[in-house]
Amino acid sequence: MDLDALAFGAHADDVELGCGGTLVKLSGLGHRTGVVVLTQGEMATRGSAEIRAREFTNAATILGSTVHQMLDIPDGRVEVTWENKLKIISVLRAHKPKIVFAPYWVDRHPDHEEASHLVRQAAYLSGLRKIETGEPPFRPSKIIYYQTRFEFTPTFIVDVSEAHERKMNAVRAYESQFHRPGQAEAGSDGTLIGRPEFLDTIETRARHYGAQIGAKFGEPFLVREAIRVEDPVGFFGPEYLWTIP
Ligand SMILES: [Zn+2]
Repeated sequence: MDLDALAFGAHADDVELGCGGTLVKLSGLGHRTGVVVLTQGEMATRGSAEIRAREFTNAATILGSTVHQMLDIPDGRVEVTWENKLKIISVLRAHKPKIVFAPYWVDRHPDHEEASHLVRQAAYLSGLRKIETGEPPFRPSKIIYYQTRFEFTPTFIVDVSEAHERKMNAVRAYESQFHRPGQAEAGSDGTLIGRPEFLDTIETRARHYGAQIGAKFGEPFLVREAIRVEDPVGFFGPEYLWTIP
């Protein structure tokens, strides 16, 4: 069966952190969602590729994803190459997602930036008949970018108040990456994610974006194109309104 939404990440945990709440919400609304990561995490400072794969499966289950898959692009060497584009095109044509989530194209980690370009380019190319992968051409209707390290001014924010707790559970599924009390070396290995305050930072950001739409928690997204609105009265109608307490 085809997917409604497919989220790409460079590494396991990128998607959970960037749009996990939205994926939880979408699956709750009855949409079929999937998570595909480009690498297997062999460069991670902590844990191993095997541990990362197990944690990835657990996290995808918590998110309610019907598809989860790890590709074999080398970790730390995600690059916009023809070979990598074909891998993404195959995934898109196999699952035919209506919308695709990708990391924001400006980031601290080069893998995130490259993954962003790679997914955007592959999504276009996937619609070209003459690129043959054994599956019919398919192009998703929209690429939607989620935040990783750097912030952007969002095009829209999804109210994830009801989904936030499950998102955080999915993030915590990556237990090898996180600080655990009593772990002497925690955070001293230079990883941002390993610092004890990391989970607080995620929650603070979700509250910050939630506050902008009158919700407890929110996830920000960016799209490149203008958004078509058929009925501004309906679109900006009563359910859109909110009051500052
Ligand atoms: Zn990452």
